[in-house]
Amino acid sequence: MSLGRRLRRRYQVKILTVLRFLPDRSGAPPVPPPWDPFEREIPEDLLTSPGELRDPVEEERIAREEPLHEFFSVHPEASEFIVAHGRGFLQSTFTRLARGVHRIRRATRFRPSPNRSPASAAEMTSILRLEAERIGLSRIGIAPNDPKYTFPESDAKQLPNVVVCLVEQDWELTQMIPSDEAEKSAMYGYSEGMTRAAQLAEFLKRMGFDAAPQGFPGDAITIHYGVASGLGQLGLNGQLLTPEAGSRCRILLLTTDAPLTHDSPVDYGLHKVCDECKACVRNCPVGAIPQTRRPYRGVVKSKLNTVRCLPVVAQASGCAVCMKVCPVQRYGLEAILDHREQTGEILGIGSDELEGYDWPLDGRHYGPGETPKVGDEVLNNPDLVFDFSRKEPPPGIGPIRFVG
Ligand code: SF4
Ligand code: SF4
Repeated sequence: MSLGRRLRRRYQVKILTVLRFLPDRSGAPPVPPPWDPFEREIPEDLLTSPGELRDPVEEERIAREEPLHEFFSVHPEASEFIVAHGRGFLQSTFTRLARGVHRIRRATRFRPSPNRSPASAAEMTSILRLEAERIGLSRIGIAPNDPKYTFPESDAKQLPNVVVCLVEQDWELTQMIPSDEAEKSAMYGYSEGMTRAAQLAEFLKRMGFDAAPQGFPGDAITIHYGVASGLGQLGLNGQLLTPEAGSRCRILLLTTDAPLTHDSPVDYGLHKVCDECKACVRNCPVGAIPQTRRPYRGVVKSKLNTVRCLPVVAQASGCAVCMKVCPVQRYGLEAILDHREQTGEILGIGSDELEGYDWPLDGRHYGPGETPKVGDEVLNNPDLVFDFSRKEPPPGIGPIRFVG
């Protein structure tokens, strides 16, 4: 790796720190209000299992033998290519992202009060949920910290409880996927998520507990914690589907030693909804989404074909067609259940409103089930240096430092 590249990686957080002083001209829309509790009863014929089916012995074995690592550390060359191709949505959102990173770093340095709250775990959990709502997080969930899903190169302190913070993305912008405009809504979600997770960490510290917020892109497999804390289930598109907004939300984590009551995985019937829907499978431009789930690292899930997906994500404004065409993302689970009850069908399936999209690489509109031809110049772009077999960061490469 060249000296220039090494220096850029080394000073990336310092660059972000400076960028936060630039005026914010992003025009980001306001964050939607916090979600009401999801109380809809799930029909019996949609129920499968709370969260995901797991084989704990296999999960332990694979985590021991092949620990997970943060993507950008394992593939530094690919991440530079992704950033270079992401200028259209990164340039105008950098300032906001930089402010989020700054809040994370400030909250990390903030000292816990010496007067620890005597509240019980149940009381602390209620207090924390109220504060999260006041801060404007869409919802939080609480799970035990699980080292199997934390990256060994994490620079955030690992405390026993994980607070999973969700921030909903703007609906209008998200329906413009795939485009730079839509991708900005994800960046806004990350910046707001970092800022609000940092605020929640500072709140815990004022109550006398330790708390460590994590930056974007994170120090752990965030969707694992989303499932473990009952916020959603995994969709066939490989993303965390929340009943309120599907995957139209960003997930930020913080760990804490505050006494808290853990949430549990929930069965929202989403596995069966996916089996009846499969819109993402049909509409993925490169056929990267399997029809069925299979065991992977001890969890039964849909394992996307990264070799086909990643070049498209990098070069087609983040792609995310699998998010755009998802009815849970667009309409929410409640509307889907109502429609299914009345018609026996999944809301929006076969409609251009849901399954149609404009493809940024050729400017054409594709309707339900139509997919653009993605050529070799994208799938095998020689500038995208990406060793798919690499499982660990190459020598000399450290993670993006958010905290230090
Ligand atoms: S991001 Fe695009 S290429 Fe990747 S799985 Fe989703 S639809 Fe397919
Ligand atoms: S598009 Fe359909 S199949 Fe894919 S994740 Fe969403 S609900 Fe599941």
